[in-house]
Amino acid sequence: MMLGLVDSHCHVQQIEAAEREASLDHARERGVEGFLVPALHLEDAETLYELADRHADLWIALGVHPHEAKRWADGDQRRLAELLKHDKVVAVGECGLDFHYDFSPREQQQRAMREQWEVALEAGLPVIVHNRESDGEMLTAFRDPAFDELRAVFHSYCAGSEMARELIARDGIFLGISGMVTFRAADNVREIFQIVPVERILVETDTPYLAPAPYRGKPNRPAYVVEVARRVAEELGIDESELHARTGAGFVELFEPQRAGEQTRAPSG
Ligand SMILES: [Zn+2]
Repeated sequence: MMLGLVDSHCHVQQIEAAEREASLDHARERGVEGFLVPALHLEDAETLYELADRHADLWIALGVHPHEAKRWADGDQRRLAELLKHDKVVAVGECGLDFHYDFSPREQQQRAMREQWEVALEAGLPVIVHNRESDGEMLTAFRDPAFDELRAVFHSYCAGSEMARELIARDGIFLGISGMVTFRAADNVREIFQIVPVERILVETDTPYLAPAPYRGKPNRPAYVVEVARRVAEELGIDESELHARTGAGFVELFEPQRAGEQTRAPSG
């Protein structure tokens, strides 16, 4: 499978239902060839299945966001493993740590993340990782030999070069670049282009949050991944079309959307 420009992280379920279809069409008109929609909690599953069933160019990830980690409970590993058995699920997520907002107790965030990583390894799927002001704890988990085989995208990456270097030293690890790359003050996002090759970069909007310039302050939409990609191409000194092709190839490499529907992923009822 070949893909060009993809919005590798957009919470389309957060867009008002009446506007969802139009927002996807608008993105397609601007050249977006695929969408990956990560869950925020397990109750998102039905909405995401429905979206994925309706759109051939839309894939989904199921998991529990760190803000919702307080709801992660005994039995949820099994529940998540069952929910993954739909033919458009290509990842576990988003999951991770957020010590900026601390909407869930930190210990609970750690537990939910690790248990989701275990489910992902078991299912042979990559994870979509959220990390905010939790670099030390994130690296501790990442270095745990239990997770040596983990494949992941660290989405909306803003943790700087040193951590980036360690992450991408391992095969199967990608950094997701969001609209923050266009923010004047975001040198911490842009500095990584000195050391991270385009082969390890994905682009995303994180819809409905973090709209890129010139849409800052407005609700973000998948169509704006065009502006994110444009700025990343500029930073890397390559053509936009090359950036689209290479990040699309990275998306296919990590998420293997062409495999969706194969044996281990039974269709939903
Ligand atoms: Zn997100």
